[in-house]
Amino acid sequence: MPTDLLQENEARYLMHTYARWPVSIVRGRGCKVYDLEGREYLDFVGGIAVNLLGYSHPDLVAAIQKQAQQLLHASNLYYTEPQVKLAKTLVDHSFADKVFFGNSGAEANEAAIKLARRYAHLKYGPNRFEIVTMQQSFHGRTMATLTATGQEKVQKGFEPLLPGFTSVPFNDLAAVERALSPATAAVLVEPVQGEGGVRVADRVYLQGLRELCRQRDILLIFDEIQTGMGRTGTLFAYEHFGVAPDIMTLAKGLGGGVPIGACLATDQVAAAFTPGTHASTFGGNPLACAAALAVFEVLLEGKVLEQGRRMGEYLAKGLKDIEERLPVVKEARGLGLLQGLELTIDGKPVVADCLARGLLINCTAERVLRFIPPLIIAQREIDRLLETLSTVLSKRV
Ligand SMILES: *Cc1c(COP(=O)(O)O)cnc(C)c1O
Repeated sequence: MPTDLLQENEARYLMHTYARWPVSIVRGRGCKVYDLEGREYLDFVGGIAVNLLGYSHPDLVAAIQKQAQQLLHASNLYYTEPQVKLAKTLVDHSFADKVFFGNSGAEANEAAIKLARRYAHLKYGPNRFEIVTMQQSFHGRTMATLTATGQEKVQKGFEPLLPGFTSVPFNDLAAVERALSPATAAVLVEPVQGEGGVRVADRVYLQGLRELCRQRDILLIFDEIQTGMGRTGTLFAYEHFGVAPDIMTLAKGLGGGVPIGACLATDQVAAAFTPGTHASTFGGNPLACAAALAVFEVLLEGKVLEQGRRMGEYLAKGLKDIEERLPVVKEARGLGLLQGLELTIDGKPVVADCLARGLLINCTAERVLRFIPPLIIAQREIDRLLETLSTVLSKRV
């Protein structure tokens, strides 16, 4: 179907929830995608931090093919090996002792919210349920996760929101302290706010949150849906800050393109979930878990994690240089391969200019260009991004 017909049919048959670019992507290889007309694009969006190993990674494709042939799905009424193996892998490489699997980021956060509420309920009774979240955060689009999301535009028109959530400014420890009460069950925070404009948490802030929560037996939840799985240069972003949460959520890069989400927790907290308290038909499905296992294997054995870390540093340096040279750039910031460039102008026309030059980038929070390429991105590909950005942004000074 040609792109114009695709656009027409999309408008006719799909609910209008996305503002799409007029490109129809048909295949991908490495860090490049190709459209219907055969045009090539260098991809710094990566399916929004999902395609960790780029496109058509042979190990990932082989693992999916093999699992599809053997067993696509079985109910959680039975044991399946990929699910158990993936849970063990996650536990072996993180602070956590136990895992619950869902199918998306929002579902992982729903599980985290439910787990925190139930933990507090069992231990302290029904009056301890409140969750403190951060402004400009993003936690998903279900009713609980959009309530947790500190952005009015995500919540507007969906009221009444869920009771028991309160949001405070990000990176402000005193604001969290003021918001805590005997009703507080948990604090939910992203180590780097992704959708909110690539804002990195301060080390003292996260350490302060950890101490505050420890003192009062309030659960600390890290939403690492975007920052996890090597995105920031370590397997999980919390490793940078020297603090471990009680609960952590993952999704996006976890399955390398196959939908999967996970909620991880310590034994003490995870014990609040007992048979019948939470479930998901597709959660931990053999296909998704086999894909995630393959992603893990490549990440850890193939030095991809190390490659991503080095490329993150290289990209950060290049963006800093652009910040210093071009007045239209307010600030370059980020961690690893989650980098942002805050502009003094609207970012959308810049994204359009890049698209016309065969470069996919994303803009979030109106003025922040976001770069979240596959971890296998090469130095020469980053060079091409930096050159194109320089060209496009100098025209807008
Ligand atoms: C993308 C994202 C989510 C939501 O994930 P979905 O899979 O779209 O539900 C939640 N939290 C963070 C930090 C995210 O980046």
